[in-house]
Amino acid sequence: MPRARLFLQRHQIDPHRTVKCRLSHGTRITPVSLSDGGRGIIEGREPIDATDGLITSHPGLFLYLITADCLPVLVVDPVQRVVGIAHAGWRGTAADIAGKLIRQMQMAYHVDPAHIHVLIGPAICSQCYEVGQDVRDVFQQQFAFDPKLIFSSKLNGKFDLDLIRANRLQLQAAGVPAAQIFETGICTKEYSDRYYSVRAEGLETGRFASVIGFTA
Ligand SMILES: [Zn+2]
Repeated sequence: MPRARLFLQRHQIDPHRTVKCRLSHGTRITPVSLSDGGRGIIEGREPIDATDGLITSHPGLFLYLITADCLPVLVVDPVQRVVGIAHAGWRGTAADIAGKLIRQMQMAYHVDPAHIHVLIGPAICSQCYEVGQDVRDVFQQQFAFDPKLIFSSKLNGKFDLDLIRANRLQLQAAGVPAAQIFETGICTKEYSDRYYSVRAEGLETGRFASVIGFTA
């Protein structure tokens, strides 16, 4: 049995009610419904293409995302019973995918951001995420906040980038209360034995899954 199916089975989640997207490091977020169940999970069912975020208001439908260092951003509004998930690497973060996820939930399902709770899953920490001037330049152009808040200069001319803080700033700017944004404190690079890390193991390494949904 494919590992995705095993994982879902172990958590008693119906693979025919689970949806996966094919990531593109963009900011497209796609609302999904019951007819999308099984896409990217069941053999012969194509994932939602070129999409880095999924949202749904259907209880019993689960959103499935794979990452290795990038941030899995899991979002729930327990009042309207709406969930969302997004993949935030540095490109998605520079383009405010987390903020876009919240705004799209507002538009599609009339969610109040004040009700939203967020979990940022295991992801690479700032001490492990060295980037060059090229990445800083992209943030300088696109990021709404002072890049000094998320970049720290190093003696070798490079920078440490705090993607988790960047996403927190964006979620708060979109109206999510700071006290409702949680993180695991687990760095994928430091715990690459338990999770997967592209920085520690290369692009060909595996990916681990994050899943969110309401039981029907
Ligand atoms: Zn780390």
